[in-house]
Amino acid sequence: KQIEDLTVDLSQFTCDFFRVEAIIRPWRLPNVVKALSARGIVGMTASNVKGAGVQGGKKERYSGVEHGVEDLVDKSKVDIVVQRDQVNSVVRTITKAAQTGEVGDGKIFVLPVADIIRVRTTETGADAEKMAGGMSDRLSNGAA
Ligand code: ATP
Ligand code: GLN
Repeated sequence: KQIEDLTVDLSQFTCDFFRVEAIIRPWRLPNVVKALSARGIVGMTASNVKGAGVQGGKKERYSGVEHGVEDLVDKSKVDIVVQRDQVNSVVRTITKAAQTGEVGDGKIFVLPVADIIRVRTTETGADAEKMAGGMSDRLSNGAA
């Protein structure tokens, strides 16, 4: 499947907001942040995590081998809360910026978000989610 055709099935959820949680290679994080920012996705949270996938921490691994803590490899996690109609764009942008094609490129999870509260203003919902100069502002200004 082409990255441009990636589509997230959100049909089970009626909520307005989702959290896109991407576990990626740490050295790809700058690329991912840059690509998201370029699209007007400015609200995000990144952290350093450790994880295991099929890749484990080893070059080769066969089914049934158990992971030890020492097998966990360094990954970066980027959490981005966006409105419903921005999920596909965010997922495609991250995939494009993080993909090498080698084992260990990572995984993206999409979760429903019930509500958002901006602490400074006590705004909630769409008002709290919106970022000044963000993607929706840019689109309404006629930018791509
Ligand atoms: P304010 O206008 O009060 O600064 P803000 O919406 O810009 O509000 P911040 O207070 O800067 O939000 O947000 C605090 C932290 O919350 C950010 O540093 C970031 O880690 C996280 N964050 C904010 N928005 C999002 C988002 N949409 N998705 C993921 N993380 C976010
Ligand atoms: N949905 C917001 C906007 O378009 C952007 C959200 C974000 O940057 N995470 O203004």
